[in-house]
Amino acid sequence: MHTHKINFTPGPSQLYFTVEGHIKSAFKQGVPSISHRTRTFEGYYQHLVEGLRQLLAIPTSHQIFFCASATEIWERSIQNLVANKSFHLVNGAFSKRFFETAQSLKKDAVKVEVENGMGFRDVKVPPDTELIAITHNETSTGVSLPLDLIYSLQAQNPAALTVVDAVSSLPYVNIDYAKVDSVFFSVQKGFGLPAGLGVWIVNDRCLSKAEELQRKGQSIGSYHSLLSLQDHAIKNQTPETPNVLAIYLLGKVVEDFNRRGIKAIRSETDYKAATLYQSLTRHPLVQPFVTESGFQSRTVIVAQTNDQTQAISAKLGEKGMLPGDGYGAGKKTQLRFANFPTHSREQFELLADTLSAFG
Ligand SMILES: *Cc1c(COP(=O)(O)O)cnc(C)c1O
Repeated sequence: MHTHKINFTPGPSQLYFTVEGHIKSAFKQGVPSISHRTRTFEGYYQHLVEGLRQLLAIPTSHQIFFCASATEIWERSIQNLVANKSFHLVNGAFSKRFFETAQSLKKDAVKVEVENGMGFRDVKVPPDTELIAITHNETSTGVSLPLDLIYSLQAQNPAALTVVDAVSSLPYVNIDYAKVDSVFFSVQKGFGLPAGLGVWIVNDRCLSKAEELQRKGQSIGSYHSLLSLQDHAIKNQTPETPNVLAIYLLGKVVEDFNRRGIKAIRSETDYKAATLYQSLTRHPLVQPFVTESGFQSRTVIVAQTNDQTQAISAKLGEKGMLPGDGYGAGKKTQLRFANFPTHSREQFELLADTLSAFG
């Protein structure tokens, strides 16, 4: 029996319910000590790539690589895709850190910034921008950007590469990969796995850019440069000794998601989000933090709980539910709720009912 609470924190979040079984069977098979230069490992790798292509409809124009985290992919993106200038849409803590990563790497990093809780429309990209950094779902504030905005940034700025952080919106968000150059995520949010694996999806334009930078004498990093990742991916391998267990587990969970069907996962996510937003919108004491419905995330829902924060947290705790704290300045006045494939309809109904009954 599990006595721990249902974890609604956005990340790490509640593990997907099949993970424990997969870990047990991985240990029985000796997965954690398998060499990454064996056919067995290559099989896990290939199974994962094929599963991700099916689940997320990733076309063959895009390659899939594995890194340690999304934080690493922020850094690798800047190293491999930017000679001088990157442009960042900043509307919270995660998009800000992507911007700061480019600054740390001494790039000419330019940002357009809006207040927490807000999104963007009509973004003007400065000339000579090589990379447009977009955080699809700002986990700190619960703001999700419309895909049409992201696609229009690529369409209107064909010389730049559009790079999308979809860490807390995949696998829910249905991205048209033909309309973006790169997308990345890590596994401890929507995929319900222990942290420690980042997935980096790139098209040929990204690979060409990395080649060009290397040719011109710029450092694109060493073992996790795009070119090194590509050289090994062809053999279903990674440059370094990777987290073999994590690659195996993600392959298994993706298989589970495919069996359940991405359509069902998406429609269930919509239902759960609607249930919680309805309870928040009708509540006398609590509101959704993001007021504009077009920017309200389906996967990370932030409640403005003001001076009721502690009391609500305690009430949810009594019913076995653990909300996420607000982020940064919102720590004492907001609660965040992840809505990932692991969270069931029943759990969301209990959450919404408990909130509605409060106060
Ligand atoms: C959690 C998160 C990250 C960082 O992920 P790590 O796996 O911790 O590196 C980046 N971007 C967003 C939007 C996130 O929610």
